[in-house]
Amino acid sequence: MAHDVVLIPGDGIGPEITEAMRRVVEATGVSITWHVEQAGAGVMDEYGTPLPQRVLDAVSKVGVAIKGPITTPIGTGFRSVNVALRHAFNLYACVRPCLSLPGDGSRYHDVDLVIFRENTEDLYAGIEFDPGAPEVAALAGLVDQAGLRPFRADSAISIKPISEAGSRAIAEAAFEYAERCGRRKVTAVHKANIMKATDGLFLRTVREVASEHPSIAFEDKIVDAACMGLVQDPSNFDVLVLPNLYGDIVSDLCAGLVGGLGMAPGANIGTSCAIFEATHGSAPDIAGQDIANPTAEILSAAMMLEHLGEAEAAEQIRAAVRATLAEGAVVTADVRRALTGSTEGAAGTQAYADAV
Ligand code: NAD
Repeated sequence: MAHDVVLIPGDGIGPEITEAMRRVVEATGVSITWHVEQAGAGVMDEYGTPLPQRVLDAVSKVGVAIKGPITTPIGTGFRSVNVALRHAFNLYACVRPCLSLPGDGSRYHDVDLVIFRENTEDLYAGIEFDPGAPEVAALAGLVDQAGLRPFRADSAISIKPISEAGSRAIAEAAFEYAERCGRRKVTAVHKANIMKATDGLFLRTVREVASEHPSIAFEDKIVDAACMGLVQDPSNFDVLVLPNLYGDIVSDLCAGLVGGLGMAPGANIGTSCAIFEATHGSAPDIAGQDIANPTAEILSAAMMLEHLGEAEAAEQIRAAVRATLAEGAVVTADVRRALTGSTEGAAGTQAYADAV
C-alpha cells in the first residue's frame, strides 16, 4: 500500500536536504506518494501569505507531512510559518531524540536523550505588543494597581501563556513514551523559582503526571542548571520535558552533544496530524552549495516511517546512516571539520545521500 505524505521543501537548505531525504526513503522500497507543497517567503507574491491555504488543506487531508526548514525574518515581516503550522494543527508535542552516532565528530559518546518540547504555548504564542500600544498602557495600569514594580512606558511586551491542559498533554506524551520505550527517568526543566505562576503551573502539572507513572523516575531541574548538567555529563539525563522556549534552546544544545544541528531529527505530533522536520533552521549561510548535512532530515524521515507503521524501513535507514558515518569515507563538511579540523575531502549533500 502506498502512503500519502505532504512534502514541504521549505527554503534555504530545505530543498537540498529534502531531496536527499526523499531519495533515501525511496531506496527503502516503501511506496510513498509525495504531495509537494510550497510555503515560505518564495510564495508570498503568488498567494499573499507565506502559508497558503492549499498547504493547510493538504496537511489536514493527508495527516502526515515532512518539511524542510523555513526562514523567519527577524524583527519584522511575517510571523513564523513553522509556529503557524504547529498552531494550525495543534501539534502540541515536539519530540527530538539526540542519539550519538559513530563518527559524528562530537566530543561526547553514547549520548541518548529524548526531548519533549511543548510546542504551542509559552512566549511562542505570539502575543506581543510594541511600545506605545494601548495594551502596554493598560497592562502598566494593572501592574501599578497591583502594587507591583512598574515597567517602563517604552517597553515592548510578550505574554507567556502556559496552561494546565497544555502542560499535562506534553507531560503525558513524555511519560507514555518513557514507559513504552523502556526509558528510566523523566526530567522536567523549568524556571519556576522566578516565573512562579507560569513555570510553577507547568512544574506542578508535570509532577502530578509523574505521580501517575510510578515506574518512571522523576526529577526537576532549573533550566540554567540543566544546561550546565547536560554539558558536563549528558548520561545523567534520559527523557526531558520542557515548555516551548526552553525546549527550543535546549534542543539545539543537545544537538551540539551529538555532532551538531545536521544530526538532530524531530517530529511535531498532534492528535490528528504529524509533521516531521530536522531541529535546525534554513542555514542561509550554506544554502544552495550542496554542502548541508541531510542526516537530521533523513532521520526525521525514519521517525515518519515509524509513525506510518514502517518500522523495518525506519531501522534500515538508521542502520545505513550509522554505517555510512562509521565508515567515514563519505561525510559532509560539518562532520569532516569536526573529525579532522578541515573540510578537505568532504562529500556533498547528494553524494552523502547516495552513500547512505
Ligand atoms: P540554523 O539552524 O539555520 O543554522 C545555525 C548554524 O548551523 C549555521 O551555521 C548553519 O550553517 C548550521 N547548520 C544548520 N543546519 C545544518 C545542516 N543541516 N548541515 C550543516 N550545517 C547546518 O539557525 P539560524 O541561522 O539561526 O536560522 C536560520 C533561519 O532558519 C531563521 O530564519 C530561523 O528563523 C529559521 N529556523 C527555521 C526552523 C524551522 O523551519 N523549523 C527552525 C529553526 C530556525
